[in-house]
Amino acid sequence: MGKLIVISGPSGVGKGTIVKKLLKTGGYALSVSCTTRAPRDGEKEGVSYFFITEKKFDEMIENGGFLEYSRHFGKSYGTPKSFVEKQLKTHDVILEIEVDGALQVKKSYPEAVLIMVVPPNARELKARLLKRGSEDEDTIQKRMQRMEYELSKRGQYDYTVVNDKLEAAVDEINGIIKSVDKK
Ligand code: ADP
Ligand code: 5GP
Repeated sequence: MGKLIVISGPSGVGKGTIVKKLLKTGGYALSVSCTTRAPRDGEKEGVSYFFITEKKFDEMIENGGFLEYSRHFGKSYGTPKSFVEKQLKTHDVILEIEVDGALQVKKSYPEAVLIMVVPPNARELKARLLKRGSEDEDTIQKRMQRMEYELSKRGQYDYTVVNDKLEAAVDEINGIIKSVDKK
């Protein structure tokens, strides 16, 4: 059995960037979530997310198709259960999800490793959101407001990693994953 690795942290902190680098080091399977939000420029169906309607999302909930799900930023996000269960037989699986979903996962998989990525400071987080340039000012404000909520849950995570220098954060996370004993 592989390990279930959950990576969370405020929007714009660099989770997606870190996960891409982790995948390049090999050996990990990435869970692709379902969401009802619209694709951003460059995002691909089935790679970034499965972009689905609220109706389909509700059907998946009813059919027990999600390992966890959550509604935030006015949209729904969920982890399809079947992919994760299949991949875990042979791989360490990474979920890149927010805190409410992460804590649901910890309930059903207590052995899951929860890692929270935090910014060096709030100003830098806002700068990264602006740099990404994929959201309007209102959406950026909503995402900044949620930061405090996300950070308030860090005590329930197994590890906290500061994403200051990207390579250092990636190395630290890789080290954490390798050092956790398989249970
Ligand atoms: P998230 O997935 O957490 O929402 P992203 O991975 O999209 O965040 O990163 C947000 C922006 O911050 C991107 O433009 C990314 O290139 C940049 N970024 C990520 N990590 C760092 C870092 N350590 N230092 C500076 N910029 C970073
Ligand atoms: P974004 O819209 O920036 O892609 O993602 C917004 C937030 O949703 C991020 O914190 C991201 O980690 C989280 N997220 C993405 N997929 C899932 C999922 O399947 N479940 C949950 N609970 N959160 C998710």
